Amino acid sequence: MSVLTYKYRIKDSTSGTQLAKMGGAIHYVWNYCNEVSLLAFRRDKVLLSAYDLHKLTSGTSKDLRLSADTIQQVCTEYVTRRKQCKKIKLKWRSQKRSLGWIPFKAAYIKLRGDTVTYCGYRFRLWLSRPVAGDIKTGSFTQDARGRWYVNLQCAVADVTEPARHLELGIDLGLTNQIACSDGIIYRRDNLTRTHQEALAKSQRANKKTRTKAIQAKIANIRKDWTHKATSAIVRRAHRIVIGDVSSTKLIKTPFTKSTYDAGWGMVRSQLHYKATRLAGVCIEGNAMFSSVTCSDCGARSGPRGLSALGVREWRCLDCGVTHERDVNAAKNILALRTGRGTPIKGIRLL
Ligand SMILES: [Zn+2]
Repeated sequence: MSVLTYKYRIKDSTSGTQLAKMGGAIHYVWNYCNEVSLLAFRRDKVLLSAYDLHKLTSGTSKDLRLSADTIQQVCTEYVTRRKQCKKIKLKWRSQKRSLGWIPFKAAYIKLRGDTVTYCGYRFRLWLSRPVAGDIKTGSFTQDARGRWYVNLQCAVADVTEPARHLELGIDLGLTNQIACSDGIIYRRDNLTRTHQEALAKSQRANKKTRTKAIQAKIANIRKDWTHKATSAIVRRAHRIVIGDVSSTKLIKTPFTKSTYDAGWGMVRSQLHYKATRLAGVCIEGNAMFSSVTCSDCGARSGPRGLSALGVREWRCLDCGVTHERDVNAAKNILALRTGRGTPIKGIRLL
């Protein structure tokens, strides 16, 4: 079983003011939790638990026009966050500085066609693709542009027969975002760079809505491209080894912008869950020296250092084979996986 999240945009005309009102009620619950647990701490030197908060908020669902379950989830989330931050008090939430978020359990919503009903209110969706599997939990969320979405977490059965026999090594890069050991390269424009001018212009003119729209557009294109590339990869290979390159190290170099743009984290997580869903395997392999080692003879004869990132093709001084830099790295990552490759959390090994 895999858990997939489906996200649908709610039609503005039907989200109306209702979701904003509910979002406001959630802020109210959150702030109440904040206040009451601070008071309890000052008086008795104890931090209220989620259970305490559930008791304190019980019976308020009618007045708040939220389901009792939603209120409980907000209390629980409050306590989780407080623990994570190791603080006695968290930031206050308000319509102005917090994005709307309304959690729910499947039992409290109804999805029929393109309409979701929650607490007696109906919201219509742009149903871009059908929901598969059983809905378990979900939430309504708002983005920075004030648009509302419904997120449905569904348990989906995994497909059991892998008809693929290919093993692929994968090198994540800045120019070639994804290079595979079989020579296929998935490449797209650097989106941050392509939209740089438009973005800078709207920022200079202090057009906030326009800026947010451009940022959302970049994020959408990147996400869409990544989905297509990762789907194509898992359909080809049953075993995938990804190089363990660290974006945090590269962020400290002149390649900061390109590193953010590459979105390696997204590529990784998508390959993981998609591979698992198709009964494949995705593990992390050692990427050390992968770009300077010749995948044919094993000599470390490739171009070195950050300046060598510009070199796309090189010839091995030892055996004379010419390599495409990233494909060669991907081949090494695949070859090195045994023994040194470490499985990533939650991913099973065959
Ligand atoms: Zn060689």
